[in-house]
Amino acid sequence: MRESIFEALASQSRPSSAYDIADVVSQARGKRVAPNSVYRILDLFVASNLATRVESANAYLVNAHPGCQHDCIFLVCTQCGRAIHVDDDSMTAHLREQATRTGFAPTRTVIEVQGRCDTCATAP
Ligand SMILES: [Zn+2]
Ligand SMILES: [Zn+2]
Repeated sequence: MRESIFEALASQSRPSSAYDIADVVSQARGKRVAPNSVYRILDLFVASNLATRVESANAYLVNAHPGCQHDCIFLVCTQCGRAIHVDDDSMTAHLREQATRTGFAPTRTVIEVQGRCDTCATAP
């Protein structure tokens, strides 16, 4: 089950919701898979750094760098749904530092920029 869900997630070029993945896996397996169980497994992937969550899209992507920890930044195209992944460790480290200075214990930094990707921005 986990394997089919990971495969389904890896085959998507855009961030996908638990519902999208449930549809793909249901079709591949020929029987209905509940979005709830997909959701749980996707969160497991996130917890183990195999996937990342695009919060503003309520969707998931395969982690581009499972071997290392970054506070990934996503540029989310509101027109086509693409999410462009960038890392800027100095910026996210600075944010964590700011949080820590106030006595706050940060667990996760979320930075997402919404707009239009290069393709959509230049489309007539
Ligand atoms: Zn990253
Ligand atoms: Zn776009």
